[in-house]
Amino acid sequence: MSNKPENLILITDDGLRLDGRCADEIRPMKIEIGVLSRADGSCYLEWGRNKILVGVFGPREAHPRRSQRADSAVIRYKYNMASFSVEDRARPGPSRRSIEISKVSREAFEPVILAELYPKTAIDIFVEVLQADAGTRTAAINASSIALADAGIPMKGLITSCAFGKVDGQIVLDLNKEEDNYGEADFPVAMTQDGEITLIQMDGHLTPEEIKKGLELVKKGCKEILALQQAVLRKKFETPVEEPAAEA
Ligand code: ADP
Repeated sequence: MSNKPENLILITDDGLRLDGRCADEIRPMKIEIGVLSRADGSCYLEWGRNKILVGVFGPREAHPRRSQRADSAVIRYKYNMASFSVEDRARPGPSRRSIEISKVSREAFEPVILAELYPKTAIDIFVEVLQADAGTRTAAINASSIALADAGIPMKGLITSCAFGKVDGQIVLDLNKEEDNYGEADFPVAMTQDGEITLIQMDGHLTPEEIKKGLELVKKGCKEILALQQAVLRKKFETPVEEPAAEA
């Protein structure tokens, strides 16, 4: 969030944003499942100009052994930004930001993954941000949810994620880069299919009324994203297996 150039208008008088969206619209999303042959589950997701690749590995024996838990699997989430994913080169390797995003994203999944079924194992979620345009943590969570399901990891349900923010004094859904840069607040959320919140963060200042309004928008956005996630999974897993032709 930085100082907005004086003549930059992010929301026009008729309520449209720079990319033509209304306040309550999410960016177009495209999801592909099973894109990595060496991963147990994978997903490639585009959301607006964000491009995210996720590989899930496991449950597999956790190494080092001291990281194992006797009563459940350990869930590991690694968010990484490719150096070419942003306008100025991103410094390779972990940063405070990527460590924080990895932690809160892992915690967003812990309530739904049935880790207790796989003691002493690890479930690894690797996120590579190939192109970033604001909202990469929410995009990565949506992609990870699909990749986990693709890997057959038992879960109580999918996790869906979306942010709202404040731009030119208005509460809007799913900020793009300009809105993130020059807006007044950014508020990422992740939730279960039942609407239970598993991640909540806030950058900027919002009143309780604005948060209430934003959470309503986020619920609407997550419902739309959940429908996309379910459609992709249904397409993959409901495809009837062809019976081999009977021999004459
Ligand atoms: P999110 O991507 O989840 O919204 P942030 O709010 O921290 O996370 O970042 C917003 C956007 O700022 C990112 O999506 C990316 O476009 C840009 N950004 C983040 N880190 C860097 C970086 N190290 N260099 C350049 N741009 C960055």
